[in-house]
Parts: sequence; structure tokens; C-alpha cells
Amino acid sequence: MNKQTLSSALEESFLRFKDQTAIRFDGNTFTYSDLDKITGKLAGELVSEGLKPGDRVAVRLPKGMAVVIVHLACLRSGIVTLPLNPLYSEEELKYFLSDSRARGIVAEVGEKSFIELLRHDLQELEFIHYVDHSGREWIEQDFKNDRSISRHAVRPDDGAIMFYTSGTTGPPKGCIMAQKSCIVNLTAISQAWGITDKDRLMHVLPLNHAHGLYVALFGSLLNGCFVFMKKSFDAEEVLRDIDDHKLSLFMGVPTHYNRFLKIKEANRFSIDSMRLFISGSAPLSQETFTDFKETFGYEVLERYGMTEIGIHVSNPLKGERLPGKVGFPLPGAEARVVDIGTGDILGPGKTGELQVRGPNVFSGYWRKPEETEKCFSRDGWFKTGDLAEVNEDGYFSIVGRLKDLIISGGLNISPLEVESVINSHPAVSESAVIGVPDRDFGEKVVAYIVLNENCKAPSLEEIQAVCKQHLSSFKKPKEIYPVEKLPRNAMGKILKQQLRMGYSG
Ligand code: AMP
Repeated sequence: MNKQTLSSALEESFLRFKDQTAIRFDGNTFTYSDLDKITGKLAGELVSEGLKPGDRVAVRLPKGMAVVIVHLACLRSGIVTLPLNPLYSEEELKYFLSDSRARGIVAEVGEKSFIELLRHDLQELEFIHYVDHSGREWIEQDFKNDRSISRHAVRPDDGAIMFYTSGTTGPPKGCIMAQKSCIVNLTAISQAWGITDKDRLMHVLPLNHAHGLYVALFGSLLNGCFVFMKKSFDAEEVLRDIDDHKLSLFMGVPTHYNRFLKIKEANRFSIDSMRLFISGSAPLSQETFTDFKETFGYEVLERYGMTEIGIHVSNPLKGERLPGKVGFPLPGAEARVVDIGTGDILGPGKTGELQVRGPNVFSGYWRKPEETEKCFSRDGWFKTGDLAEVNEDGYFSIVGRLKDLIISGGLNISPLEVESVINSHPAVSESAVIGVPDRDFGEKVVAYIVLNENCKAPSLEEIQAVCKQHLSSFKKPKEIYPVEKLPRNAMGKILKQQLRMGYSG
């Protein structure tokens, strides 16, 4: 694998594994050579249209071949590809396009009128491509003049992908992952998890998050794997496909594992071809780990990562995988637990903030120098905001979050964002949103609201409707509780821990 840049390593992989199947989606298959031709052609087109290396191009497409092709083409031409959730509301989309200063966007044909409306307020948005989400127009091109590719010589320090954080402490922040950080990190992951071109990945994750796009898709394509891509997750169907297509690798979030455990007579399916089940993005409970082992005979390999750092800590492939622990730092990566008050490095068994260092760590938030300064310690370690412990053997475990993120079904939700929408309801004076444990989704969104004087409490449906107007649907609260006042500390900060402890469901 070329160790310099993600772009060149992917290209090398397209050539090396040329006749092998790269992706199967919706019954269609694409070889590595197909990907080379299709993405090379589109890369050339993007550049000839006037997009330049370093420009950000937003990709707002549902999961399908088009989204894969666009991301790969952007990487080939040195464009920073910006994956966006296709469910984002108009307000959210506008924020991401203007904050990133995106020069281009690729969206579905059906969204034309919606995007054209936004366009007027976004002077920097010059290039708009509307496509069919199947990517048909690119796939069906005539490739007689194979590899009519205009490529940019991508450098290791160039930006590759721009992801946005969930915005727990304010608006979402842009993180540009450098070409070299991506390749260093994906090489370490590949070695740690023993990924080779013999692997056949069941891909069920969304392609607008680092987990699904960067770790699962790019990580597999770099190694010549066969990627069996599904639009969405249905536990039974996934097991059937693993059985039918003899798949060997699964990357998922804890919710997926909980869903597998709900299948009746799961032993109808033979999953002997499976080599490895991996979990991340949210804590996998010890119960799920144990139940999965008992039911399916596999120990799920849990790992820990973040948008800002990629994957940093992982349970071992060969050594013991401990339930409730995320394992050891990957080769080249370092991790430490630090006292929140004093900043002292803590020994085994003590809880503190997890701080990390390594070539995979990003260099800072996009156009937010103050936020960047805050997230690094004086000696240059990235402060993850997660509470962790390390045991005598060096296994790390994540025990909580300093920051307030809710992770429901593997999707991150900023309580702050949901609160500000709920507060816009005329009957609501203020609100506090928390995540509470949920067997199915890991966590669910619960809101406590304080009413304005003489106002009747709005129904859950009413609050959900307001949320849906401004936010993606998965962020809406599942329960609301009117309260007289919110618990606060002397500084006026809402004590969410008290709400969590008082929650009885
Ligand atoms: P994101 O930036 O969307 O990838 O979210 C990163 C956050 O997900 C981390 O800061 C953690 O709070 C959480 N996270 C990721 N993996 C794990 C894990 N294995 N266990 C617990 N929390 C995790």
C-alpha cells in the first residue's frame, strides 16, 4: 500500500486489484478497474469545470453508487470531499455549505428546486451537479478512451475529507483530515484487523460519517476487499446475505448487534464465513458482547474513534477482546488518562479525560483557531472530551463523556441543537435535553421543558413536529417531561446528571 496519500493509495489499489470485484450494490457489481475508469473520468470532468485542488465539494446523496463515485473522484482530483447527511434540513444544509465555503455540491436531481433556493445566499457555491443517485450517467459512459484522467499530484499535507462534528458545545465544527493522516490511520487499522483482499465486507453504515465512508469503505477498497453494500440495515437480511455471499467482515454500531440478538432462530443462517465483527461509534454493552458471543459464537472487536482522530484505540485481533473495553492504542498512536482538574497523568483504575496523540490526529478545526487551541493540551495532546480509564494491562475503557453528546443508533445528536429548537415553541421557556439508555438505540433523546406562564404543556407530537421542521428526524425527542424548573449549579449551569439520575422512564 502506498503510504504517502489516501488518493494515490486508492489509485494503486484500483490498478493492482483490477479484475477483482470491488463493490456489489443493488444487484450490480463493479470491479476495481471499473472504479478506476469511472472515477478517473469524473475527476477529469470536475477539474475541467474549474474546480481546484483544495476546494470543498459537498456531497448530499443517499447511499448508492453515485455517492461512492463522487467521493472517489474528488479524492483523485485533490478536491476536499465533504460528506453530508441527505436528511439535513434546509437550515442545516445552509450552515454546512456556508461554513465550509463549499465551491461545489453534488445532489440528487429531485432536489434541484430546493438547492436553487439556497444558492442565492451562497456566493461561493459555483458548481452544482444534479445526478441520479444510482450514478447511472457516469457508469454508462463510453470508456473507449480509457483513463482520460486529469489528475492532481496530491501531497501528503493536502486535505482529503472534511467531516463536521456534531456540535455539542456550539455549532458543528469542520475537521479536514489530511491525506497522510488518513493513509497512516487506515494502514494501522488494516494491519491491526488483518484486512486483506480475501475479505468480503458487509457494508451497512451510512456513507456520510467517518465510520461508514472512511473506515469501512475506503479501508476496504485500499486492501482490495469485496464490499457488499446495502442501503440500510435489516438484521435478518444481513445474516442471510452473509450466508449467501460468504462474507467475512462486518463493521457496525452497537444497535446493529442488539438487532442481531432479536432475531428468532438465528441459527437458520450459517455465518461460518465470518472472520470478524467490529463495533464502534458508541459503547457496546458488556451484556451485548456476552449475548452475541453466546448466540453467534463470535467475540465482537470493539474499537474507539472520533471524527477528529479517525480510529485510535482497538481491541486486539489475536489477544483477548475484553467486554466494556476499547483496547489499546493502534501502532504509532498514543493515549493517556488525565486528571480533569490538575491535568496530571493518571495511573490504572483512575477516571479522567482521554487525551491522544499520533499522526492520525487532525491539526485543527476549519477556520476556528480558538476552538482548536482549546482542544489541545499545552504539550500537544488532543483532548477527546471522553472520560476513560486504563487498566493494569493497558486496556482503555470509555466510561462517560465530559461533553454532552447523545449517540442514538450510532448517530450523534447535540442536545444544544435540539434544545434551541424546542425553546422556539411559544409555550416553552427553556428546556434540557439528555440521552437516556435505550436497549435498541443505545441512547434515546428525552427533553425536560419548563413552560411559560399560563401556557398549556404541548404534546410530544407537537414538539416533534417543530423539531422535524428544523432538524433531521432522528434528533427529535422520544419523550418530553414538563417540569417546574431545571436543576442548576451555582454558576447557573443546568445539572444534566441530576436529570439523568432522576429519569425513571
Ligand atoms: P464521532 O466523532 O461522530 O465519531 O463521535 C465520536 C464519539 O463517539 C467519541 O468521542 C465517543 O464519545 C464516542 N465513541 C466512539 N467509539 C466509542 C466506543 N467504542 N465506546 C464508547 N464511545 C465511543
